[in-house]
Amino acid sequence: MFSPRRILPFPSPRNGALRRHARPLRNPTGSGWFFGPSSHHAQEPLPEKPTRTLPARVTRLFPFVAFLVAAILSAAQPLRAEDNADALAQADALRLTGRYEEAQELYEQLAEQHPIEAALGQADCLRARGQEAQAAQVLAAAAEAHPSAANVTAQASRLALDRGDYAEAEKLAAHSLELQEEQLLARWVTAQTHVAAGRLNEAEKAYEWFIDFYNRSPQIDNPDHLHLIGQAAAQYARWTRNSNQFRFLVNELYPDALRLNENFWPARLATAQLFLEKYNQASAVTELNAALVINPNAAEIHAARAGLALQGYDLAAAKTSLDQALRLNPRLVAAHLFQADLHMANFQLAEAIAVLEATLKLNPRDEETLGRLAAAYGALDGLPTDWERPLPADSRMGKAIAQAVEANEHCGRFFLALGDTFDLLRRYPAAAHFYREAERRMPQLIQTRGKRGLVLMRLGEEVEAASLLQQSFEDDPFNVRVKNMLEVLDVLSNYAVLETEHFVIKFDRGQDEILAQAAARYLEETVYPAVVRQMGYEPQGKTLFEFFNRARNTGGHGWFSARMVGLPYVGTVGACAGKIVAMVSPDAMPQKFNWGRVLKHEFIHVVNLQQTNFNIPHWFTEALAVWHEELPRPAEWTALLARRAAEEKLFDLDDINFGFVRPADQDDWTLAYCQAELYAEYLLHAHGDDALTRMLAAYADNLNTRQALRHCFDIEQEEFERGYRAYLDQVVAQAGPMQDAENLDLAQLQNAVKQDPKNAENLARLAYAYLQRKANPQARRLALAARQVEPKQPLAAYVLARLQLSIGDAEQALELLEAAVSEEAPEEHSLALLAGLKLQAKDYDRAARLYQVGVARFAARQKWLKALARVYLQSQEEDKLVPVLAQLAELDADNVVIRKKLARQSLDKKDYAAAARWVNQALLIDVTDAELHAAAAEVFAAQEKHLPAIAAYEIALRLNPEQLAWRFSLADAQVQADRQDDARQTLKNLLKIDPDYPGADVLLESLE
Ligand SMILES: [Zn+2]
Repeated sequence: MFSPRRILPFPSPRNGALRRHARPLRNPTGSGWFFGPSSHHAQEPLPEKPTRTLPARVTRLFPFVAFLVAAILSAAQPLRAEDNADALAQADALRLTGRYEEAQELYEQLAEQHPIEAALGQADCLRARGQEAQAAQVLAAAAEAHPSAANVTAQASRLALDRGDYAEAEKLAAHSLELQEEQLLARWVTAQTHVAAGRLNEAEKAYEWFIDFYNRSPQIDNPDHLHLIGQAAAQYARWTRNSNQFRFLVNELYPDALRLNENFWPARLATAQLFLEKYNQASAVTELNAALVINPNAAEIHAARAGLALQGYDLAAAKTSLDQALRLNPRLVAAHLFQADLHMANFQLAEAIAVLEATLKLNPRDEETLGRLAAAYGALDGLPTDWERPLPADSRMGKAIAQAVEANEHCGRFFLALGDTFDLLRRYPAAAHFYREAERRMPQLIQTRGKRGLVLMRLGEEVEAASLLQQSFEDDPFNVRVKNMLEVLDVLSNYAVLETEHFVIKFDRGQDEILAQAAARYLEETVYPAVVRQMGYEPQGKTLFEFFNRARNTGGHGWFSARMVGLPYVGTVGACAGKIVAMVSPDAMPQKFNWGRVLKHEFIHVVNLQQTNFNIPHWFTEALAVWHEELPRPAEWTALLARRAAEEKLFDLDDINFGFVRPADQDDWTLAYCQAELYAEYLLHAHGDDALTRMLAAYADNLNTRQALRHCFDIEQEEFERGYRAYLDQVVAQAGPMQDAENLDLAQLQNAVKQDPKNAENLARLAYAYLQRKANPQARRLALAARQVEPKQPLAAYVLARLQLSIGDAEQALELLEAAVSEEAPEEHSLALLAGLKLQAKDYDRAARLYQVGVARFAARQKWLKALARVYLQSQEEDKLVPVLAQLAELDADNVVIRKKLARQSLDKKDYAAAARWVNQALLIDVTDAELHAAAAEVFAAQEKHLPAIAAYEIALRLNPEQLAWRFSLADAQVQADRQDDARQTLKNLLKIDPDYPGADVLLESLE
């Protein structure tokens, strides 16, 4: 996602873009879009389908049969002695609540009476902490002592499955099933080995077996069994697209497991995972929190929380959860996979590869690990531009893919992981390619079509995306992102389309037609030629722009955000996802913003992503986009830069991307844009006018930043950074002094004064700090002390002047300031106060001169310019006012008022070229301002461009039909353009509204 600069949309990144608990969007009926927490417990039970479906309620009417089943299930186990049953239950409770060591001790004590349960419990405690080898030993010993214990062998088979020893897993599971035909865990392991070997029909039958088993079992009193049934039923439901089953699992089966044992957290985790898979994050959070309350030491739960955080792009939270998961179980594959994802979200491909290669030692066959690894290799080594051609066989990605396919021809999970990873890395064409491959290899996977649909939406291929998303929705109506995107498509289907030579614009005809037409013109006439020339690349095909406005009780921003990510997260007003740009209609935002700038900024991203085959780091495309906005750096940026430079908290090329994707706060976000632009500036400054295009070419050749710097400028990244840092210091120094007295900590100042009681500056600053806190006596005392050391200390004079003013003594205040303010070396506060007092006293010349000193000297130029403009407004010196307003306009790209005023002034002076410039700029901020269109018409008419004048008057009148003068001018323009018929009609309409409109009847008569 790319966000434009200085659009500081109300949702700041922290509470907007990266927020985990977003307010759900609403659908037309007002109910949430989200398969939400309040509803899922209220679902209707599903109709019974005897053989293939789990019945909604388990019949529990036959206690006798239930007893028999229970007896069969525990046939291999010795009967529990009454007195030890409690101890065993206690050990199980300790284990389930994560008190593994205590549980283990208790199991050891019970080993004699309950050798099998004790061994299973111990093994589970060991496994939970990543001690699989010891767990295997415990199980092996138990199996030797009790060769007919099917459940022991089944547990051992699961350990083999987890470490990727599929042959052993299969063998052990088969043995367990020989001992006991209905051993559920062995059945589950068998199903998984079928999947791993690509025997998908067998796997499906194996899953189905669980459903039949459940349906024919009158009562199941083991939560582990319900859990396994749930897992298998979920798989079966995914594969057979029977999504109603998800409701049953969430509302009936897993709650049943918890009823059997309130500590059975795996049921909560399984529920959470179902929600997560469907992006229902609110419900997932609830379940995960409940699971953690039961067992805070379950690594799997923390790993799932990391997955949730990654979904919401909350990388800091993901890291915290992963650290916890890996501390509890350093060998948990799921945690390592998320760790790798986290690295990739942070653009640390080498680190991700290291993690994944290490994870392979835990399970060398795991397709999710292998898929991620193949993707990371590809992203690091370079991706082909044409996916139709075979991959080079000697590339690391090519080899990884060949191996995966050889091991399992139906390795859909491998390709799904590849697709997901490329999606995470924003390499959308690659993601789409591998999602398709996953679907081809393993049509059973329920998510591939939806995921490919979402990626194609980003690539602007909306027709194909729509059909995939529709299919995906039919497969699984609970997927929140898919459902939201279909709603977006539905809104888009009612949008009008405006097609030009290089662009396709979709918009709401009723609300945004004027915007769309102005945007089309601006994009074709101004943006396209400039950007294509600057970037040295023409995008292939037409670029799609979509403007979102209010629809069905959802605001324009909600639709825009759903369009970008399928979820309401995006914290900006415009974004580019590769081949499309989406923007909130300015009309749907409470504040005006320069939409023209947003369009250009985002189009630069479109061009950059395509020309580098998506191999461009975030910071560099932002650098180009911001640099080419050609706007002066805002003073707040420079102030922030200075502060962070002083604190040594700047970004460098290794971490600047975080500032865009996971800013800690608004400052981080702003600083990232500011520093990115300065990287562009510095590249040009240090390495010549073609430095940016050379870098672009290097990225297009698949180099990374370090390699690109070396290749283009023969410079090491570290040396480049040193030069950049020196350049930043120069920028800060040139900007002039920043106001920083406010930011000083009182205690720090007190300390400084104590250390050096004769330092006039510190005394004055402390006085100022007290004044800010309304501690006037202290302020006065310290200011006087400062003046004793340095009689003209300006900040001390300011403090005393303010104190005089507070008792109404302006004369004394003026005297103090006059004596202390030096125009050669001014202090900001005293200068501003003196200028203000002069303005009050109507000494305009002096006030203006003092404010000019401020403009020249201080970084916060805007503030001083505004004050200066106030002087000229009051003194009615129009000639001097105009250039000040022009400077202010330059500093404030989103300000329409100043531009309107400048346009008016230029028109009054008949400076039509200037008027046209200001009107055009103002329209890029407020395209629905009728007066601006009328002003544009006036300019055209004056330049004898009659047809554009007519068009502009027509728009003005559409926006404000009451303006009779515009009607008359329109008629006039129509006459000039030789459109007498139109003119007659216009005049007749005018006379209908106002029969006495001066001159209208005369003009009409002259035409008849
Ligand atoms: Zn951007």
